Amino acid sequence: MRIEAVQGDITAERVDAVVNAANEALAGGGGVDGAIHRAAGAEELHAACAALGRCPTGDAKATPGFRLAARWVIHAVGPRYRDGEHGEAELLARAYRRCLEVADELGARSVAFPAISTGIYGYPRDEAARIAVATIASTPTAVELVRLVAFDGQTLLAYERELSSRGNEGDEG
Ligand code: ADP
Repeated sequence: MRIEAVQGDITAERVDAVVNAANEALAGGGGVDGAIHRAAGAEELHAACAALGRCPTGDAKATPGFRLAARWVIHAVGPRYRDGEHGEAELLARAYRRCLEVADELGARSVAFPAISTGIYGYPRDEAARIAVATIASTPTAVELVRLVAFDGQTLLAYERELSSRGNEGDEG
């Protein structure tokens, strides 16, 4: 698998599936969730999410991408960060793993991720980047390309540090 990091708006990604940083109610919200709803078509995406019911923290569920270039949206629920002593790291890792499992069920070969939990949910950016890269790299999957989409330059730097310290930027495996 190739893992790469870019800076940009995930709603413009031309991949099989984009991941949304959703909430348990799958009710839409601010941040990347709001941007994905607006770009996909808020009414249709809202209805598709309502049909899924709730999604517990650490889990992920898919809907069509509607007006996005991506065929699917994988709605993942990361943890709210409290103090790091409440299982946040495991829940964040589980959310990334579940996205790849759902991508495999869909047959998606390219997936773009936002920095789950690092906005409104307050997860420290560098630690979240470490968990994202380590979890994606160690999860067995048929996904061939993972693109980590940073909205801001600091998050991009955090990804680049993690990828270069693993020596797998652009590599196979
Ligand atoms: P959470 O509630 O999981 O923290 P947020 O949407 O508040 O979710 O933030 C998650 C990350 O997504 C943050 O790093 C935020 O800067 C980023 N983000 C916000 N809008 C976009 C977008 N359009 N594309 C990519 N990333 C985005």
